[in-house]
Amino acid sequence: MKIRRVQFVCFVVLLGLALSFVALSSALAAQPNIGVLIYKYDDTYISTVRNALNNALSGKASVSMQDGKGDQATQNDQLDVMIEKKVDGFIVNMVDAQAAAGILEKIREANIPVVFFNREPDLNVFKIYDRACFIGTNAVDAGKMQGDIIARLWSQHPEYDLNRDGRCQYVLFKGEPDNPEAIARSEWSVKQAVTNGVNMEQIGQTFVCNWDTALAQQAMESALAANEGKIELVIANNDSMAMGAVAALSNVGYNLEGGNKFIPVVGVDATDQAVDAINRGIMSATVKQDGTAMGDAVSAVILNMIAGKAPLEGTTCQFDGSGIAVRIPYAPYVGK
Ligand code: CA
Repeated sequence: MKIRRVQFVCFVVLLGLALSFVALSSALAAQPNIGVLIYKYDDTYISTVRNALNNALSGKASVSMQDGKGDQATQNDQLDVMIEKKVDGFIVNMVDAQAAAGILEKIREANIPVVFFNREPDLNVFKIYDRACFIGTNAVDAGKMQGDIIARLWSQHPEYDLNRDGRCQYVLFKGEPDNPEAIARSEWSVKQAVTNGVNMEQIGQTFVCNWDTALAQQAMESALAANEGKIELVIANNDSMAMGAVAALSNVGYNLEGGNKFIPVVGVDATDQAVDAINRGIMSATVKQDGTAMGDAVSAVILNMIAGKAPLEGTTCQFDGSGIAVRIPYAPYVGK
């Protein structure tokens, strides 16, 4: 009798182990494959999103991520390979947002759900396919937030008006010429500052620096050489370019930690480097794009779509008026 009970207990334990093994292996087998196409790895904000994606999808999906290296042709090839491998879902960060229609057509033909994020295609292209959505930000909001920050800085620091003419002489660094975010940030940062009562006056032409630190540093060096003592504010579409401007300024004795000559610099993204620069007092402010919130939202939505659920089920996201786009809000960052 006693032996029987031991045998029975052993049987139950073994059965339990066997069942949990089956459950584990079926969970692994059921994990979807998600193809992730990134416009380029060498982008600070996108790196934050990539980390968040990897964290959020860990244990829930197997992820193959590819670096488009800023080249749309490369990204097209990466898409073709993943379609052939029959991934279960796509996450796409377009190199060139204007090429989205072609990408979406291929994904539609393969009948794979897709979430586009960050670089915003014309939302009309989404009409051809109902297993697709977009998660981005509202580009105008980032610009407006910069404008609000500028107005606050200007009223709090009368000394920033170096020539005491009551106007703010600024230089503007733009991401890319045709990028909708770059266009909206450039326009609305200045418009919003004007709405808030600042008399804005641009020095020179807008510097188009492709979101890039080194290009912005070169442009700022030239601008400083040509307009010594006349520049009172730097507005940049992103923090990478803002950091380039800060580097150029520090080379000529401005914006040094503990220094006494300072020109306000305002960026967008809240990259680690920019947040550090703001905390050290060598940059004024940035607008935070929450990369982690972006990565979490993109992951949750694609998993829902793969599982055949409503895209936003179980999330705090909401579609905007388009019915297919989710906007992750911005927040200002002015230091600790
Ligand atoms: Ca002035």
